[in-house]
Amino acid sequence: METEAGDTFPLRYSLFPHVPPYIRILPHGQVYNPSLPKELAQFTWNAPSGISPVIENTVTQAGFTLIQGQIRRKEDQQTGAIWDCLPVTEKSKDEINFGDLNEEVKINQFPGLFILGRKDNLWLCYEIMKNKFGPEHFNFLPTTYILPRDKDLLTSEMKKKRKAWIVKPPNWFCGIGISLIDDIKEIPDKKSSMCVQEYIDRPLLIKGLKFDLRLYVLLTSIDPIRIYIYEDGLVRFATKAYSNSPDEIKNNFIHLTNFSVNKNNEEFVYNENPGDYEGHKWNLKTLWKYFDEEIKIPWKPIWEDIKDICTKTVLCGHEHMSKAFNKTIKSDYNCYKLFGFDVFIDADLKPWIIEVNNIPSLHTNTIDSFVNYPMAAEMLNIVGFHIPKVLGNKSYKAVAEKLGLELPSSCFGFNPKLYTRLKTDRENEKRNQYISEDLSREEYCENILQDLLPSDLRILINSEDELSQTFQWTRTFPSIKNSDYLNYLYTPCYSDRLLDAWEAKYGGSKQTRTEGIQIIRELCANKEHLEAPQVGLRSSRTSRYDFTPTKAKFRPNSQFFDFA
Ligand code: ADP
Repeated sequence: METEAGDTFPLRYSLFPHVPPYIRILPHGQVYNPSLPKELAQFTWNAPSGISPVIENTVTQAGFTLIQGQIRRKEDQQTGAIWDCLPVTEKSKDEINFGDLNEEVKINQFPGLFILGRKDNLWLCYEIMKNKFGPEHFNFLPTTYILPRDKDLLTSEMKKKRKAWIVKPPNWFCGIGISLIDDIKEIPDKKSSMCVQEYIDRPLLIKGLKFDLRLYVLLTSIDPIRIYIYEDGLVRFATKAYSNSPDEIKNNFIHLTNFSVNKNNEEFVYNENPGDYEGHKWNLKTLWKYFDEEIKIPWKPIWEDIKDICTKTVLCGHEHMSKAFNKTIKSDYNCYKLFGFDVFIDADLKPWIIEVNNIPSLHTNTIDSFVNYPMAAEMLNIVGFHIPKVLGNKSYKAVAEKLGLELPSSCFGFNPKLYTRLKTDRENEKRNQYISEDLSREEYCENILQDLLPSDLRILINSEDELSQTFQWTRTFPSIKNSDYLNYLYTPCYSDRLLDAWEAKYGGSKQTRTEGIQIIRELCANKEHLEAPQVGLRSSRTSRYDFTPTKAKFRPNSQFFDFA
């Protein structure tokens, strides 16, 4: 009963027995065959604050129900999918109560994301990593001064280096409030936080224009951490020829590459033909084609560097995000996150992270649609949506008949046991054994897979089902190519070590992965993965707050990292 990419069957089976099916999301323009049973159309997508047309069209063309509603109060909680895109989540009224999320809901948010999405926080956690691991590994974010804290330091740097600096409000987007300065008199003098960053004044130019890249990065899990990057993206050009002349320093059409800025230039040209070198927006694959055909620059090493710095950027937020996650989240089903990363390439072909957008805009111009629709559909399949339990119970008979399913009714709707964060004593004991700092990679890789416990199986099931849906999305962590990333996690985490050992043993080839999957399948056939403490019960002998060190301070629901 396996299904393949390109399949238009409304449901997608798990790779494993006794795991309920997922709802298949089709790329825009494709239709289900057989058609979506009307009972499944009751699967709801909740969009509390408007919704990107890319997501809206993907969901509604398939026939699912879209509701504009609230999600921030407990009484509004429900099952199904939530696409949240409130631009401001730092005020108390906009906070999501992650602890109250129904275990059957899946939302494109994690607690603690402001650590990456705010420019000042990103610099602060990046700086910690840079100091800890050295600039040879962390040298991809332009040096940033946070005012008023760093005002004296910035003043003395500006006196030493006669060049342009870029001033940015920490929590705005679309180029709002951004300006270039080259005089200490222009240093903002506000009490509220402001970022001033070294301006990269030797950009790689295409046809004389500065450009940056909008890339998509997906975080599907924190414990263990799983990160993906999309192989296509958007290339956004400035609309006026690049110049470092001080006379032109205030010309945003030269220095900023935001679409929202440059579309206001009457010279802005929309690109209606993906693949052609025309207009002020291309897709990434067209840029790489341009590298191959026109400027003869090997782009693969640049792309590898870009994937590396995007992954490390997410890891900069690992400590904060995993503490917030362990503190609040009940179900591993609840959260995923699509980020928009802005990346910039300088004249030495070195990529820089410019910023992380927690709410990427997902426009629908020709080029944007060309990239965003397939990206979004594949992303939604990777994260995987089950049929909610109540809906499953209600609709099982009709759906099974219409689609000719051979699944038992007990394996149709959502099963909370698959995603519980509760652990048995035995599982906790095993975890304690494998989190020691002193344990070498060889040691844990050799032993951790020997006695797979139910919660281990669940981690591997989720990871393999997710990976089976990747076509244009590439997983960068865990990665057999780069197990060094594990060093950047703030503390050795059991689930990351388990997945690392799994990848080391079975991730090397299609054949070895199939062998690994077969082992899990056999264990699932005996329903071992469904042995779990009863969901909803928390005794002193079971815990979902795994190994969260208590020494660090954490203020829940605060946008600021507590760096004290
Ligand atoms: P926003 O969130 O408002 O889009 P960004 O930090 O992305 O702010 O900056 C807007 C634009 O300014 C970027 O797309 C890029 O073109 C330019 N820019 C930002 N930071 C730098 C920098 N350090 N060096 C060179 N250009 C930059």
